[in-house]
Amino acid sequence: MTGTVTLVGAGPGDKGLLTTAGAQAIARADAVVYDRLVGEDILDLIPPHAEKISVGKENSHHPVPQPEINDILVRLAREGKAVVRLKGGDCFLFGRGGEECEHLLANGVPFRVIPGVTSALAAPAFAGIPVTHRDFTSSVHIITAHARAGKPLQINFDALVRLDGTLVFLMGLTALEQVTSGLLRAGMPPDLPAAVIENGARGTQRKVVCGLSDLAGAVRAAGLQSPALIVVGRVCALSDQLDWFTPLPLHGKTIVVTRPKARAGTLAGKMRRRGANIIEAPCIETVPRKDTQPLADALQRSHDWAVFTSPAGVPAAVDALRRLGCDLRTLYGMKLAAIGKGTADALASYGLTADLVPAQYDGEHLADALIAVMPQGGSALLLRAKQGGQLLPEKLAAAGIRVTDVPLYDTVYRCDKADALRGLLAAGKIDAVTFTSVSTVEAFVQAVGAAEYTGFTACCIGTQTADAARKHGMCVKIAKNATIDELVACMEEIDNVP
Ligand code: SAH
Repeated sequence: MTGTVTLVGAGPGDKGLLTTAGAQAIARADAVVYDRLVGEDILDLIPPHAEKISVGKENSHHPVPQPEINDILVRLAREGKAVVRLKGGDCFLFGRGGEECEHLLANGVPFRVIPGVTSALAAPAFAGIPVTHRDFTSSVHIITAHARAGKPLQINFDALVRLDGTLVFLMGLTALEQVTSGLLRAGMPPDLPAAVIENGARGTQRKVVCGLSDLAGAVRAAGLQSPALIVVGRVCALSDQLDWFTPLPLHGKTIVVTRPKARAGTLAGKMRRRGANIIEAPCIETVPRKDTQPLADALQRSHDWAVFTSPAGVPAAVDALRRLGCDLRTLYGMKLAAIGKGTADALASYGLTADLVPAQYDGEHLADALIAVMPQGGSALLLRAKQGGQLLPEKLAAAGIRVTDVPLYDTVYRCDKADALRGLLAAGKIDAVTFTSVSTVEAFVQAVGAAEYTGFTACCIGTQTADAARKHGMCVKIAKNATIDELVACMEEIDNVP
């Protein structure tokens, strides 16, 4: 049976501005055909089994010609696939969405359209420019300033000036001079407020706001690049006053999050809400170990404490117990220790309250805290990664505690974004990298390879993590207490990195 093609508007780039319906369509997709302007974070939502086809369009240069894109959509649908055609911004605004629908219709392929947040409205909103305002104007007009190669712009500037509304030009950066001079010639006042917004509604957004006649020069001086759009109208005068985006504490900072995908969400979300440009580049993966025998053997004996040293250990224990045909009740009678708040929260999500969380969240302090409450000859069951550090078991054993160390999962170094990270590092575009464990540091270093690690600040949870980062010559900042909130706060203290 023929599949359906769903045209999805991905919004201006930030994952948060993708619609819920759009995200659901991506989650269900068997194949995704996407443009260049679709944000990386949104591409990360594509299910691993789905086919990913880039047909990136760049200015007048179309790597995959439109007829070919049309044919790809029909072919994939005829293979019975749920196809998502993912486009930047809204799919019907200068995105050739209409042409694609016509082609699908002509070929009997069913389609749907999920509109997206257009950059034409989102970029001004993130730049403090309300596109309409009762005191200034009651209309907004969206115009393409894209000319076919070698042809002059086909824009009726006289008509635009007479409209007296806010004008938004897309695809206009290369033609900026022609747009402003066209408007001036048609009688627009030279001091009419105007703006160019680069990377609108993204963490990397930049803007230039000035009088119309100065715009082209100011934009050239600032070196703004594509994607960018032009806004012309008196509402641009509000841009400074209503700018809510630039003052956010992490605005303008590009921050890499290295923790595993499943756990990156909260940290990345918190920093995004503070205005940061986040690059989610998980460098480690936790893989459950198939062999449950060590756990089965360990459970033959009784233990006083079950010790969890990372949030990932908790679901791994639940899973391993299930595979042994039992469940968390097997731990009945044991006290529960968690290395930090995240791990205690993971226990809480299963209805369990940690009996002990050390004041400082690392292996050393966990060992001290356990030794303080356990009698000599007591026993501790460590439920953790195969690659866990030796400090904790050694300290416990030295204090006369019987330790059973059960490996439940492997911490595997794996980074799909290694090339991108290397490029950004070389270009000096990374302000900070967050490390939440020693293994994230080692995995990052392995992914990036030999490099100078001095251009950014390594923001670390825990002294052992910080030591590992220092060992590689990184400039380190430690979260005051090892929580995600403290890590975010520590990032806000980074000033200009050398
Ligand atoms: N369908 C898209 C527009 C496609 S045309 C939408 O609704 O947004 C591509 C043009 O959109 C670019 O040349 C640029 O002018 C503009 N654009 C897209 N994303 C942008 C962004 N994040 N910031 C500024 N302009 C953007």
